[in-house]
Amino acid sequence: MAEVIIIGGGIVGLSSAYYLHKKGYSVTILDKGDLKDNCSYGNAGMIVPSHFVPLASPGMVQQGIRWMFNSKSPFYVKPSLNGKLIGWGLKFLKNANAKHVERAGIPLRDLSLLSKSLYHSLADELKADFELQDKGILAFYKTEKAAEEEGHLVKKALELGLDMAALSAAECAALQPGLKLDVLGAVHYRCDSHLYPKKLMDALLNYLQLNGVKIMPNHEVTRIEVAEKAINSVFAGNMAWKADHFVLASGSWSAEIAKMVDMNIPIMPGKGYSFMEPEPEQRMQIPALLCEARVAITPMNGSIRYGGTMELGQINQKINKQRVLGIVESVPKYFPDLKPEVPSMDKIWYGFRPSSPDGLPYIGYSHKVKNLIVATGHGMMGLGLGPATGSLVSELIAGEKPTVALGIFSPSRFN
Ligand SMILES: Cc1cc2nc3c(=O)[nH]c(=O)nc-3n(C[C@H](O)[C@H](O)[C@H](O)COP(=O)(O)OP(=O)(O)OC[C@H]3O[C@@H](n4cnc5c(N)ncnc54)[C@H](O)[C@@H]3O)c2cc1C
Repeated sequence: MAEVIIIGGGIVGLSSAYYLHKKGYSVTILDKGDLKDNCSYGNAGMIVPSHFVPLASPGMVQQGIRWMFNSKSPFYVKPSLNGKLIGWGLKFLKNANAKHVERAGIPLRDLSLLSKSLYHSLADELKADFELQDKGILAFYKTEKAAEEEGHLVKKALELGLDMAALSAAECAALQPGLKLDVLGAVHYRCDSHLYPKKLMDALLNYLQLNGVKIMPNHEVTRIEVAEKAINSVFAGNMAWKADHFVLASGSWSAEIAKMVDMNIPIMPGKGYSFMEPEPEQRMQIPALLCEARVAITPMNGSIRYGGTMELGQINQKINKQRVLGIVESVPKYFPDLKPEVPSMDKIWYGFRPSSPDGLPYIGYSHKVKNLIVATGHGMMGLGLGPATGSLVSELIAGEKPTVALGIFSPSRFN
């Protein structure tokens, strides 16, 4: 049985392990943490075929600059002379155009739809209830400008065959009776779904452990040995680990590991925050996105999760309370009766979105070493795209034709 080592046990690593195990591979996951928390746990749990426009898109640059001068804004890049950040930023600028958005639409849609259908199969196969629901997401807006932008999105989504509809404020209210609204309207991304990430991750880990996948927490990969253009072994936990194939699924840390085999895959960590609150009296039935505030609200596990902000730059353990306040204060502007409390520091979760400069994931073989597959860089969509990515990784390793064309996701596109 051919052996595969996966570096990283987030949703991408676990999904890859799942589909590889299903195809009969002997799989080991090495993770530097305890596998009880990573970016795949505290996220908003949204599966978003609606997000076929990558973050690198027209208007994002100007909007980003405006946000940089507001301490509570949803987006922040610390001005810095850090060469990595500047290089990433220049690539972002180069990609933030209409041509890139046009080129990315169909591949992103196909990846998302594949993942959504795999999530349904996973729920059956794992016999697990991770609260997967197909109620869509309501993207609420308060301004004419956002209404216009969402209007364009609906038009394009319908062209791509995705189910979406613009609703008036009254139509939104009818969907969630009793939940007071102060909005101009919303677009119902009916094509979207949501789930509770912790239950999903627990179910996957449990299944993998019970079915013979070797899971090694506290095993940080610190060095990779290459011989004859192939990985010979990776070093973790004072040991050399050998396998036939390797998968790089280390989220925001992937760029550093790629460097060990002389690969350049630009990734910046995009820090985001979330916190949970008891469910309000008037139940939120359908998850919400607050368009202008860039906040996500998802009912899960009998509670409600608020999440948002994107601080591009560094991996550190600092909590910027101003950004969390930005989330808290935005909510009643859309839902006057929903007034989340400012969470205490220990209630604030944060994670690092592995963000590529063109807003697209890296999925495919390394061009530097022949037995390494890269599966990372999913940014704000990694939870949703996890199963599709894992399934594609297993197809590549098995030498099968990938279900989704992978050209645009090539890990060597910035070389
Ligand atoms: C506030 C917030 C809300 C979000 N909401 C959504 C959402 O609604 N929908 C969505 O699709 N996405 C969402 N995301 C994004 C999503 O959470 C991420 O894209 C996704 O979790 C990334 O998964 P991953 O497996 O690539 O990385 P991670 O989950 O970060 O896992 C990477 C793993 O690699 C390990 N690792 C790193 N370095 C090493 C090393 N040297 N050796 C061994 N192991 C290593 C780490 O310990 C970690 O366990 C959100 C993110 C945030 C922050």
